Amino acid sequence: MRALVLHGPDDVRLEEVPVPDPGAGEVVLRVTRALTCATDAKMLRQGHHPALPPPPAPLGHEACGVVVAVGDGAHGAREGDSVVVANSAPCGACPPCRRGRPSLCESIVYLSGAFAEYLRVPARIVERNMLPLPAGLSPARAAMVEPLACAVRGVERVEAGAGDEVVVLGGGVQGTLITGLLAARGCRVTLCDPHAARRERGLGFGATRAMDAPRDPASVDALRMAHGDGRGPDAVVEAVGRPAAWESAVAIARPGGEVLLYGGCAPGTTVTLPTFPLHYGELAIRGSYHHTPEAVREALSHLEAGDAPYDDLIGAEITLDEVPGVLRAGSGDKRPVRMD
Ligand SMILES: [Zn+2]
Ligand SMILES: [Zn+2]
Repeated sequence: MRALVLHGPDDVRLEEVPVPDPGAGEVVLRVTRALTCATDAKMLRQGHHPALPPPPAPLGHEACGVVVAVGDGAHGAREGDSVVVANSAPCGACPPCRRGRPSLCESIVYLSGAFAEYLRVPARIVERNMLPLPAGLSPARAAMVEPLACAVRGVERVEAGAGDEVVVLGGGVQGTLITGLLAARGCRVTLCDPHAARRERGLGFGATRAMDAPRDPASVDALRMAHGDGRGPDAVVEAVGRPAAWESAVAIARPGGEVLLYGGCAPGTTVTLPTFPLHYGELAIRGSYHHTPEAVREALSHLEAGDAPYDDLIGAEITLDEVPGVLRAGSGDKRPVRMD
């Protein structure tokens, strides 16, 4: 079969490799659709990633497929089943899992190899995070379950509710999905992004307002002043993944407000925060990483309900050999990958 294999920084090759056999508890899928992701682009840039085995590593982690082989003990999976898989599964037994924080699992198992004709799904993912494809849901949209599950997990960490003002920094895929989830909760969301098309898309996901991204201290002040009668918004979600945006997020929130630092920054980066608003303003600052099995199920139900224009995040279909070029272009937009 053909598969995209990562060998090192900017070195990904379309190779002929054996079709995988399922081990105990595993299944093999014929991949119907995979989706590109900004994380794949990062993996290609860096040549390695904690969610990948050491190179040469099969690339791709958002996928839908049909079960074509079932390993011993893979209970509940049958040949011919159409399924969607999350890109990981927690162990359920380590201290964070036992404390109800499976996104912090210390022995998480990741999926990789979705940019291929066939995909071996690890036993733990078969058991905990492989779900039937709902009837009527397109494979491309269903494969968004992983990015949407991350957004679901993110907004679980935000307390703002109906009527509260939330500023979302960043109108990429994640900022847009978060905007939709918060708008559905009744929050009045201002989505900030430098690109007009992304601001427009955010309005379609239910943002009340869309504004340019703040670029300097004056525009950060102006953004704060535009909310909460000049005090600032009740909550700020940073979905850019740059230290400067993290610092802006803290500067925009009102006293007593909350900040979700959602976007992952480059390794080794740091931020500098003013102490006064943290102390005298009693800011609540939280992080969010990855997703949970519950969030995966909630995400799939959102996709099935079609409660936001999810297809607006999905670009034109591409073939396997076009994936490297799309990842290098690095727009972060999601492109469905056909294997035939
Ligand atoms: Zn992804
Ligand atoms: Zn665990």
